[in-house]
Amino acid sequence: MTQRLFGTNGIRGVVNEDLTPEMILRASQSIGAFFDGGRILVGRDGRTSGEMISMIVKSGLLSAGCSVCDVGLAPTPCIQYAVRFGSYDGAVVVTASHNPPQYNGLKVVSRDGIEISRHEEEQIEGVFFEGSWTPKAWSQLGSMKSVGDILAPYRNAIERHVDAEATRRSRLKVVVDPGNSVGALITPRLLSAVGCDVQTINSAIDGTFPGRPPEPTPESLQRLSRTVKLTGADLGIAHDGDADRALFVAENGDVEWGDRTFALVEKHFLMRNPGETVVTPVSSSQLVRDIAEEQGGRVEWTRVGSINVSRRMEEIGSKLGGEENGGIFYGPHIPVRDGAMAAAMIVEVLAKTGTKLSELLGELPHYHIIKTKIPCPENRKDHVLAEVTRMISERTVEATDGVKIWPDRRSWILIRPSGTEPIFRVFVEAPSKGEANDLLEEYVTVLRDLIKGA
Ligand code: MG
Repeated sequence: MTQRLFGTNGIRGVVNEDLTPEMILRASQSIGAFFDGGRILVGRDGRTSGEMISMIVKSGLLSAGCSVCDVGLAPTPCIQYAVRFGSYDGAVVVTASHNPPQYNGLKVVSRDGIEISRHEEEQIEGVFFEGSWTPKAWSQLGSMKSVGDILAPYRNAIERHVDAEATRRSRLKVVVDPGNSVGALITPRLLSAVGCDVQTINSAIDGTFPGRPPEPTPESLQRLSRTVKLTGADLGIAHDGDADRALFVAENGDVEWGDRTFALVEKHFLMRNPGETVVTPVSSSQLVRDIAEEQGGRVEWTRVGSINVSRRMEEIGSKLGGEENGGIFYGPHIPVRDGAMAAAMIVEVLAKTGTKLSELLGELPHYHIIKTKIPCPENRKDHVLAEVTRMISERTVEATDGVKIWPDRRSWILIRPSGTEPIFRVFVEAPSKGEANDLLEEYVTVLRDLIKGA
């Protein structure tokens, strides 16, 4: 395998172990060489290591001749918005998104506000591993530039996309759980501004994440679930560590997966925008397809990864994208996943329909999804995938990302080799739990035999 610096979500690692100051400096100089003296925004999430790392990043960029604007603490989509609509050449976001507190990372953003492409990552990796970077002379070093507040313009932009008359009329009671991270800087104030009655939990920014782990899941959101029920709130909203995702809790305390709430947003979007195309990765529920068919829209399926959704939306001019992990992309705002925008969209749906979230979700078709992983040595992945495809050639197969098999129109199995670990990720969806379990068992047996070389 060729040497990699970037994983599926930028550069990630445990601070002072994988992500040492020396490594970060070299990576930042390589990123600076890639931007070749451009104007670069640097911002960070609320991690304890954020200050240390962003200082090194700024030094690396300056030494490569870039001018640097430090925006400090901000959600990733807010920094992406500032790049897209400001006069910048790119950004480096110091974040490890949903990873535990000992992790941090760097996300590199292009001039258009979207993460750089795999091809561009390879250019940076080339400089990093070959050391093919010429240091700038003292007279060519970059300088620090001042930058105004980026939070308010971003928040105002989201507000403009919301039917504030409807949301003010309904005065929804919402509980926001930013998980002690930078979502606390935007979502509570945004929702108050559009007329919600807002309460918060875990809203003090703290890089030790004392309230809950930075990844929002049904387990980590139990306190939010209880608070929603105890206070009689209409909705709970939780962000991950850099607030590009949002998961929602219904008024009855149920924590909902992202593709179900995305399907709800999709339904209301297509009702207002008939015939539009929505973009989602092949790992999303077929619910996204059902809703598109019901509302006369189309679905474009992509490889897994937010950048694939963003780039495809740009290519075909799609206005809406979504992921099962709670990422919603709203093109007229910015075609990247955005937790605060997602929160505003769900609030708007509740306000306009005057219906409870549990009821709205209950009206959607029901499927059962199982997600698991199967260990497989790197050198057997290609062979195993080819064999699976050959064995089930009588069934409908798609090869957008790994192999997706459709035994019938309402069930599928996705087998995807992980890009970062020696495993296959396996997703199964079927109309019932029993059918999903049966399918999983059938394919896991086949996979295990193939991996063993039987
Ligand atoms: Mg994130």
